[in-house]
Amino acid sequence: MSDKKDNIIACSECFKDAAFKYMISLYGGLDNTTQCPHCGKYNGSKLDLTSLLYVMQLFFVNGTVHRTEYGGAPILQMNDCRAYEDIESISADLNDDCRLLYQMTGWCVFFYGPRLCMVGFNDILDDLRSDRINEAINVILSSYPVVIMDKSLYYYRLRLNPKNPDDVNEYDTPPATISRTSYGRLDSQDNNLIYLSSDLETCIHECRATVEDNIYVASLKVKKDLRLLDLTAYFDEKCTEFESVRLAVHQLFLASSHSYEISRQLANAIRDKGYDGVVYPSYFSHIRNGNDPFVDYYGGLSYFVYDEHYAEASQIRNYAIFGFPIQEGKLEVVSVNRIRIKQVKYDMILCPNIE
Ligand SMILES: [Zn+2]
Repeated sequence: MSDKKDNIIACSECFKDAAFKYMISLYGGLDNTTQCPHCGKYNGSKLDLTSLLYVMQLFFVNGTVHRTEYGGAPILQMNDCRAYEDIESISADLNDDCRLLYQMTGWCVFFYGPRLCMVGFNDILDDLRSDRINEAINVILSSYPVVIMDKSLYYYRLRLNPKNPDDVNEYDTPPATISRTSYGRLDSQDNNLIYLSSDLETCIHECRATVEDNIYVASLKVKKDLRLLDLTAYFDEKCTEFESVRLAVHQLFLASSHSYEISRQLANAIRDKGYDGVVYPSYFSHIRNGNDPFVDYYGGLSYFVYDEHYAEASQIRNYAIFGFPIQEGKLEVVSVNRIRIKQVKYDMILCPNIE
């Protein structure tokens, strides 16, 4: 304990910006018997250097991520090899805090010009958004491996407010005869499929379920060998992020509904190749596992492209199975249960207000 006290370099009371003080209060230690070596107060949340740098990273870097059409990047960045300069678009109080942080840590916060691969500059993404889309889709199809769906796992399929929750057909693909106004990331009027996940919380996110919904979940098992194209697989590409097929697919599935025209064409092509379905990364992967795909670069290099373990851990797998797999005997509903959301917890960052 005495070692920890000796290592304290600052407390929440040292700083002016209310949001930054709040972030320190989340990660600092509240020991009212210890005096802050900088401001001399006893009542602040106190931090050592490592924790202070972590709070700076969360607040200034993770907190200022700006999502672009594909990808995204933090607006501010920090390092220990620049001289301090004021930042124009943040408040005077926060600039004072940044100056003090620089004096305390040697780390400087600055406006970041991201590598363009972080914000969607990629040859495959360019082609997917052009009349060369079919060529790009063929590259994706030939790059990723086939997997056989694991028969030992449960796969979950959620329904919100189903009319007949005990009817297993409620959990199959909606009949093509039902006219629908909206489709998801991969399905369309001429490509019927169901979405599954082996992670129940991901299903809750994907369905945008709220406490007001009557939520039912079907647990399904695979009955036949189902061949899926695995868009979550890692392979060493021996190229830069600007040519990376994996980074293109990653950013495609992190993009919101403006990207659906492309992902639906990709799904059609996968079906037309004879696959039973596709494994793809959940849009909510980073919300589920806490990684930040728009920040996880080191020296501008993407962890996702170059670090297999990171890539593996950063993706929650979802499954789309073509056709009407329950009716076709490919999947079996082994139980149907109601879900009641008991509590929801958030892990939030307060962020600088950049004008
Ligand atoms: Zn202090």
